[in-house]
Amino acid sequence: MSLRTDAVNHVSHGNVISPDIKGAKITGVFGESVFTLKTAREYLSDEAYKSLTASVRGGKKIDRSVASQIASGMRAWAESKGVTHYTHWFQPLTGSTAEKHDSFFTLKGDGTAIEEFEGAALIQQEPDASSFPNGGLRATFEARGYSAWDPSSPPFIIEIGNGKTLCIPTIFIAYTGESLDYKAPLMKAVESLNKAAVTVCNYFDKNVTKVTPTLGWEQEYFVIDEALVNARPDLVQCGRTVFGFTPAKGQQLEDHYFGSIPERVYAFMRDFENESYKLGIPLRTRHNEVAPAQFECAPIFEEVNIAVDHNILLMDVMSRVAKRHRLVVLLHEKPFAGINGSGKHNNWSLATDTGVNLLAPGKTPKTNLMFLTFFVNTIKAVHDYADILRASIASASNDFRLGANEAPPAIISVFVGEYLTKVLNDVESRVGTKFDEQDEAILKIDLHRSIPELLIDNTDRNRTSPFAFTGNKFEFRAVGSTANCALPMTVLNTIVADTLNKFSAEVEALIEKGDKKEIAIMQVIQKYIVSSKKILFEGDGYSEAWHKEAEKRGLPNLKTTPVALDAMVTEKAKKVFLENGIYTHAELEARHEIELEKYIKKVQIEARVMGDLATNHIIPAAIKYQNELLKNVSLLREAALPEKLYKGQLTLLKDVSTHIQQVYENVHAMVEERKVANNLEHSREKAIAYEAKVKAQYFDKIRYHVDKLEQLVDDELWTLPKYRELLFLR
Ligand code: ADP
Ligand code: MG
Repeated sequence: MSLRTDAVNHVSHGNVISPDIKGAKITGVFGESVFTLKTAREYLSDEAYKSLTASVRGGKKIDRSVASQIASGMRAWAESKGVTHYTHWFQPLTGSTAEKHDSFFTLKGDGTAIEEFEGAALIQQEPDASSFPNGGLRATFEARGYSAWDPSSPPFIIEIGNGKTLCIPTIFIAYTGESLDYKAPLMKAVESLNKAAVTVCNYFDKNVTKVTPTLGWEQEYFVIDEALVNARPDLVQCGRTVFGFTPAKGQQLEDHYFGSIPERVYAFMRDFENESYKLGIPLRTRHNEVAPAQFECAPIFEEVNIAVDHNILLMDVMSRVAKRHRLVVLLHEKPFAGINGSGKHNNWSLATDTGVNLLAPGKTPKTNLMFLTFFVNTIKAVHDYADILRASIASASNDFRLGANEAPPAIISVFVGEYLTKVLNDVESRVGTKFDEQDEAILKIDLHRSIPELLIDNTDRNRTSPFAFTGNKFEFRAVGSTANCALPMTVLNTIVADTLNKFSAEVEALIEKGDKKEIAIMQVIQKYIVSSKKILFEGDGYSEAWHKEAEKRGLPNLKTTPVALDAMVTEKAKKVFLENGIYTHAELEARHEIELEKYIKKVQIEARVMGDLATNHIIPAAIKYQNELLKNVSLLREAALPEKLYKGQLTLLKDVSTHIQQVYENVHAMVEERKVANNLEHSREKAIAYEAKVKAQYFDKIRYHVDKLEQLVDDELWTLPKYRELLFLR
């Protein structure tokens, strides 16, 4: 029996495993595994509590002696929940999370066993940095790494089976100060945006003292039966299928989207949602996505720093809980050819400490002008730094999705909807006229009443846009489903901060020359609308016409990661990141290097898996069938039957033989190209070679012949689960 038939027989057909959920109300479990400020109040002295809140709310430093009090409070709470170990939890540049568990248990000098957790252990740890990607930083700076407590993200308890571990969110840095993770730069970008945005807000409202970027992500994923996944080495090793013929029924009936959720998956969803609630992840929606076996979940938005932690935590929770249900979650951007891939829309906005969403059109002329200011500054930022934003979402796996016909193109453009387009055109049309005479009209722009119209307009047409305004937030839709949102969010917050800084400088200059504040603001807004106009696009982003139009407009269209990444290390990029205090030049160069290396390794692994599958699964199955055909034909010949009666078999034999030969030849040629690529010295050259010579030249070609064989070879001989089984059996 092949692994495939075995797997098909082992699919837990409809075998629902009920999740162990106590109580019906979500509020009953929400945040129970999180050391929230409310919990902290119970476990900490007044002094320790005050110091912790000041740090969480205002970024104040916590001194060592107080840290020790906080640490013992945390331990007391954690132990009351059965926790034995703690770990610094961080997000190295691998893209996943890292943890190294230590027990509270320790031996004192005299041999007494006690449990302890000291302030020093809470504040700082020294994981061995050499095993994490560092892009040469370590070699250059002889830097060991350390992880440092980030009080702004609350500690939480991870349960694996009966084991419980207290996780302390940390940032990961080299001893010389360079950041080696995704979180430290994000926090710097958030701070830089805060400063820039508060200055601009104060033109309109003096009471604003803090502006925080908010993020609400939407996570798409596939759910496949575990037995079937285990019989597909490509899914196990690459997270996507490198071969597979599109089944007769795919997504063409459009019967999956928003359809009823299969019961087994529903049980899994409730289970991982419950685990997420305990961890304080505010999940809100769940539904079927367009492709068969594809789903989505989304939380209520949060401060970007917390939302990033929650997303990365959720991906981990989902994958672990799936195992309990004998399911596998595929987070890859394109697990299956021919049907939709998965993205992770990043809904982004700005919130003030006075409770205002800066990207929600206001109710009064004055707040409308404030909205328009932030709205136009965001568009201008995306226009000026589209290439860096594109680079922030570049990865080997997202390359399979971007520009494919269900995903936004690799061209960055902004969709704002019909009504706001009118508003922008209106402002622009007054170029040359003095705002003094017009300002009444401009300031009375009646935005709030047009919102319903705006939303209807948007839901229909913005699907194809990589960066769309959706009523009260921007939605960055080109982010891949496997991505850590921290990187695109770092870039977005940085470029908006930079643009706002320039904006206030220009406004100040005009005010100094004697303009009234509102008039000065309108003038700069107008200038920004004119200069960033070419980034606005309302049409169908999937169309060929848009590619041509974008080229005419001079918008970059970088389809592959190795070249898209160049934008991270241009003079422009170095300047904007350095000036805003996000990355040093060395950090940028290191990150560029790391991303290239990740790309090379991913493509290399896929190429190897393709070779293995072709050699060990595809060709042997096809040869067996070829032999059967040969036997059959020679018997027919022996029986002296006229050839016209077995012309079909002869054609089949010829086709099967041709495809076998093609698979064989191309796999060998691909191996040779890999050797050439491996001998290249520089990562960029090597990544380009892997893209152009290995992937582009051979992946589709090999797949074409393999998929042809899948259609021809006797089903009983085929060893890999087919798409129709992977996608429809559960
Ligand atoms: P859709 O699925 O049509 O894109 P939803 O209403 O499901 O829209 O919202 C998508 C996401 O947008 C949710 O995660 C939600 O929390 C988020 N969101 C809503 N308002 C904001 C905001 N002000 N800032 C950031 N994210 C937001
Ligand atoms: Mg959305």
